[in-house]
Order: sequence, then structure tokens, then C-alpha cells
Amino acid sequence: MIDALLEPSDLPHRLPRFADISIEDYGPAIEQGMAEQLAALAAITSSTDEPTFENTLVALERSGERLDRVLRVFFSLLSADSDDDLDELNAAYAPRLAAHHDALLLDDALFARVNAVYENRAELEGEDRYLVERYHRDFVLAGAALGPAEKARLRELNQEISGLEAAFGQAAQADSNDLAVVVDTVEELAGLTPGEISAAAAAAENRGLAGKFLITLTLFTAHPYLSVLENRELRQRLFEAQLARGSRGNANDTRAIALDALRLRAEKAQLLGFDSYAGLVTADNTAGTPKAVRDMLERLAAPAARNARAEQAALEASAGGPIEAWDWPYYAEKVRVSEYDVDLAVLRPWFEADRVLHDGVFFAAGRLYGLTFEERPDLQGYHPEVRVFEVSRDGEPIGLFLLDLYTRDSKKGGAWMNSYVTANTLLGEPSAIVTNNLNVPKPAPGEPTLLTFDQVNTLFHEFGHALHGLLARATYPRFAATSVYRDFVEYPSQVNEMWMLWPEVLANYAVHHETGEPIPADVLGKLEASATFNEGFATSEYLAAALIDLAWHELGPADVPTSPEAVGEFEAAALAAVGLDNPAVRSRYHTAYFKHIFGGYASAYYSYIWSEVLDADTVAWFKENGGLTRENGEAYVRYVIGIGGTRDPLESYAEWRGRPAPIAPLLERRGLA
Ligand SMILES: [Zn+2]
Repeated sequence: MIDALLEPSDLPHRLPRFADISIEDYGPAIEQGMAEQLAALAAITSSTDEPTFENTLVALERSGERLDRVLRVFFSLLSADSDDDLDELNAAYAPRLAAHHDALLLDDALFARVNAVYENRAELEGEDRYLVERYHRDFVLAGAALGPAEKARLRELNQEISGLEAAFGQAAQADSNDLAVVVDTVEELAGLTPGEISAAAAAAENRGLAGKFLITLTLFTAHPYLSVLENRELRQRLFEAQLARGSRGNANDTRAIALDALRLRAEKAQLLGFDSYAGLVTADNTAGTPKAVRDMLERLAAPAARNARAEQAALEASAGGPIEAWDWPYYAEKVRVSEYDVDLAVLRPWFEADRVLHDGVFFAAGRLYGLTFEERPDLQGYHPEVRVFEVSRDGEPIGLFLLDLYTRDSKKGGAWMNSYVTANTLLGEPSAIVTNNLNVPKPAPGEPTLLTFDQVNTLFHEFGHALHGLLARATYPRFAATSVYRDFVEYPSQVNEMWMLWPEVLANYAVHHETGEPIPADVLGKLEASATFNEGFATSEYLAAALIDLAWHELGPADVPTSPEAVGEFEAAALAAVGLDNPAVRSRYHTAYFKHIFGGYASAYYSYIWSEVLDADTVAWFKENGGLTRENGEAYVRYVIGIGGTRDPLESYAEWRGRPAPIAPLLERRGLA
């Protein structure tokens, strides 16, 4: 039933009627949603009335309501519960939807009306005025103010760039598959768990290599197995395979594709009046300019590189000689255990998933924001494994939280948050519906789900996004929920991670699943003592990737090299210039397999550490002000997560704290002060 996608649901909080949606419904629903929006836009532009905020901006905000409802379900399921048919549908509709979006932002008559309202924006206040300003910027950055020939060229560039991005992703994936490491004997796999070894045996068998073992590659340069594999030759082989992706001169070489995309992006930026693509991207983020980003990254680079050198000396002492990049994670774990007596793997019995959820994640949200969570088994998610909770604030229901914890074939890797319904008054949506997706392996039937330390951290992180989606209140859909700048959106989720190890919270949830014993008292102290251990490495490998991204996107079109061989030289020079050229500490990604920047994160990989400046300052504030209190939670809602995108976020932050966020708390947290 396409109505199940287009119409508001009559279930509690307008939970989509997942059971009534079938795969055949998406195409017609998307078509109808696009057609209706085009008709609504035509009604705006054909009006003979003077352009006003109401008849132009408000009408524009209303125009996409039904299409948006369809796409929220479609894109959420594409990540969380997809199959080949849905993927195919996406491949077919992605260019159509991009063209639909382009058509809206490049509509001359529409821009003329938006511009007229913008010229008179002095008459408007608050969220109304901000709405005009943001839409005006959207139009200008999309090229609405350009002449016809330039607009035509821009459309071509957009098409070519998205084609190159798709080609990059496919080639990188194909080369990564080809480079999976074949291992002949089980002895070479010493260090892996029995489960990991049987997964490697099964992967080999799938490729017709029965009796052997196959290690598949992962996104980060430093494969997670490097920290446990005892066989040094195998570590080297695995590392070199990771590093070789996309740059072997074969059919899956991504370097020429990358250079073409970089050149066209630079041309696009110039067409729009910017020196570089980084200029275009940062203009629509809180950073504002590439210089602000570069200053920040360079401020961190030297101390991070220095700390990494000191860490390297300790690892080499442990190894009894020089170490290479493929040895670093292995000796780092050895030193972590011997120096700090911290073995994160033994903590799992204290991290039973349901206790972590109720007595940790929900408990902290209750103390801070007055939230309570009631499981609603009567409400159905999009998959039987999805759990639905009704969320109330001070006893008033405010929405639903959907939790989809387990990994399965139909789910993409990683962890994320989505909104199905966002709270906004214009469209009369009082509630929010958010979902958190994780990829926790499902235990055997009857066994408890014991989370790893990282998975607990991920749950708190993603729940930070969920809180943002649940607590934000806006008049306009444009500003609802987590609709904030990209270099700001990670900040609330990073802040929520602080409660994982907050003593009162940890004591409440970290109870041994069999004995009921609390987590050993000294664990927290050990974790705190080891908090900055290996941070020189972690910060350096991240900064290197952020600087590679920035350096490429600072170039003008004529400065982008043409030969694939120049890619490695350019990267090396960019990193050497800031002192991040230690051969034992490689970038988290190199250009030839840096999927983020040849997808949606071009020139934005800096965002994580940019938002961590706010995060570290906020964590320091909570600590200074008594931590887990309702009063603190209220202030944080009022100035940060409660406002969605309704105003300039850094202005709101400065109003709260009486100053912008300083960098010192971040330096201290990462041991860089
Ligand atoms: Zn996040």
C-alpha cells in the first residue's frame, strides 16, 4: 500500500506501518512524492502575489512533507534491513532524487521569490529569519544565482562527480575483495579466537579455497587483527594488502578516478565563487573557512606526532628492537596490559546488553533529562529483532526509541542513528521517532548478549544522537531533530559517551551477569590511568587522514595532478609539511581507499575532531558542575540538544558558556597539552 508510505500513520506517535509496506510500494510512492512536490513548487512560483515568508518559505517547507515521509523509511531500511531488490531500487532512484533536488535548488522563479523574502529579512525574527537565511544560502551554494551557461555546466559537473564517486566506491570495494589475505595453515593464525579462525575458514571455503583461511580487509589502514596476530610475516602481509588497495595499476586502480573527481570538484567550487572545494564545504559548516580547519589540525599535529614518537620508544623497548607500522597495534596491546594492567576483553561478563541499556544508557538519560522508557512489545518495528520503547519526559510521552542491536546479512556494517519522525510544529508533529542500529554479533540461543567495551561505548554514542533527535524542538522541519551542521552533529553523541564510565552510572549497570558482583573497584582507576595511552598514535593517524582530505580539497582545478603516480607523492608532501610522516604511524586512510572523501564526507573528515573541541569543553563543564544532575541536563537541552538546527549553534553555545569553546580541554583529554 503506497499510502502506508505517503500518509501519516495512525499508530502511536505515527510509527510507520511497516507491516503494510512491501517492496513494490517504494517506486510508486517516491514517484508520487516527487510529483506532488513539483506541483507544490509550481503553485508557489506561479503565484501572482508578492513573495512573502508565508507564501514562499513556509510553502516550501510544506512541499516536501510526503516525499520526506517515504524517503525516511526507504533510506533507513536501505541501511538496516536491505536486500538486492532494495539496493537495486536505490541505484535506480539515487540519480532521479539527486536531479529532483537539483531542479528545486536551480529553479530560477523559486530562487527569485526566496531572494525577495531574503532582501526583506530585517522584518523577520528568530527561527523565521534563520530559515530564510539558510534557504538562501542553500540556493546560492547550489548555483541558483549563476547565469544559464554556468548553471548548465554545474549540472554536468554534479552528474560527472556523482558518477566518479560511484565508480570509486565500486573499484575500491572490488580491489579490497581481491586483496583479502589467504593463509595456508592454522598455525599462522595464532592470536585469533576460535570464532575468528572458523570465520576465516568459512570465508576461504566460500571462495573455493577449502582447507585454507581468508582474512577479509577492513576500512582502516590498521586492521584490527594486527593487534593480536602473533606471526610477524602475516601481520606484514595483511598490512601491505590494506595499504595496496586501489593503487596497483590494475582495472580497480582508483587513483585516476580520485584525481578526476578532485579536479571537477575544484572547478565546481570556482564556478560558485570559492578558491577551493574546501572553501565551498566549510562555508556551510560551523568552521566557516579552510583556514580555520587547517589552523586547528596543525595546532594538534606537532604534539600528536611527538607523543607518538614517545609511545614508539616504549613499544620498541617491549619488542626488543625497531618496530614497523604492522607491529604497532600488537605491541601497543602488550604494553597496555603490562603497564596499565588493563585487558578490556575480560570485562565483557559485566556488560550484559539489557543491563547496559536499562541501568546505564536509560538510567543516565533519566537523571539528566527526566526521561523514562517503557518497552512496547505491542508495537512492531521493521524487523522482528527491533525493540520499540515509548519515551516519556516527566511522565509525558514524547516519542519512540527503536533499538536494532544485532548484526545480520540484511544490515550494513557500523552503527548509526536515524529519525523516522521529527518533532516540528509546522506539520503538527509533536513526537519524535528515532532508531539506533548497532552490529553486535547475535549470541547462541539461550546465551546472554555480552557487549565488548567498544560496543558499550558505541551504544552510549549512538544514544547521544537519539537524545538529540528525541529532545530537539523546532517550528520548521528544516531544523528538526539532528538537522544541524555536519561538523556539529557528532558533538552531542560524543558528549553522551562520558556517562559510560561515570562512577554512578557504571556502578549501576556493570554487574556480573552470573554472579551479580559489581565490576572490580580498581577497573575505573586503571581505565583512567590508561586513558591517554596510545593517543599519540590514534590522534596522529586520524589527523593524517583529515589533512590528506583537506590538502586535496584546498587545490584549484589546475593544481590537481594528472598522473596516478603523483597521488602518493602529494600525500607524502602534505603530511611531511606538518610532521605527520612517521613511517610507523600511517594515515587511517590513504587516498586510493579513502571512501569517506569520495562519498559524502569530502572535505569534512575534520568534523570529528572539530566537534570534539565542544565535546571536551562540555564534559569539563559537567564535571565542574556536579555531573549527573537534572539541572545540568536542562541547561544542556536549552542551549544544545533541545534547539535542533533552529539557530546558529556556536552562538547558542557561547551564550550558554559566556565564551566560545577553548581547545585546552581537548588537548588535555588527548594528552597533547
Ligand atoms: Zn556519531
